[in-house]
Amino acid sequence: MKDVDMVCIQCPMGCKIKVSLDDDEKVTEISGYTCKSGKDYALQEVTDPHRVITTSIKVIGGNLPLVSVKTSKPVPKRLVLEIMDIIKNSQVHAPVELNQIIISNIAGTGSDILATKSVEKL
Ligand code: SF4
Repeated sequence: MKDVDMVCIQCPMGCKIKVSLDDDEKVTEISGYTCKSGKDYALQEVTDPHRVITTSIKVIGGNLPLVSVKTSKPVPKRLVLEIMDIIKNSQVHAPVELNQIIISNIAGTGSDILATKSVEKL
């Protein structure tokens, strides 16, 4: 048995949640959460953690060589290398608008890669 302690980041309350696992890494108890969102977050953190990815993509014909991007929602950590590989091998033609979808449904996650700034055409 082991306990995993974490701070819920789903809202500013920052509840301290404890997840107890048995020897087979199965969840036996979750405590310390205040709402269902926190319980769901804790369960996902120990079974399939997700993260927002922020990085940049090459721009062709723009006043900047790169545009900063992020995932539209958290993606599974286990897919981060695959996603970064797709992004590394991608490029976008200027102009790029803020919040423009650069890659939709990346790696089948349902998350889009969005521009977090605009880039003008040269
Ligand atoms: S458990 Fe609920 S109330 Fe507590 S931090 Fe998470 S989302 Fe907020």
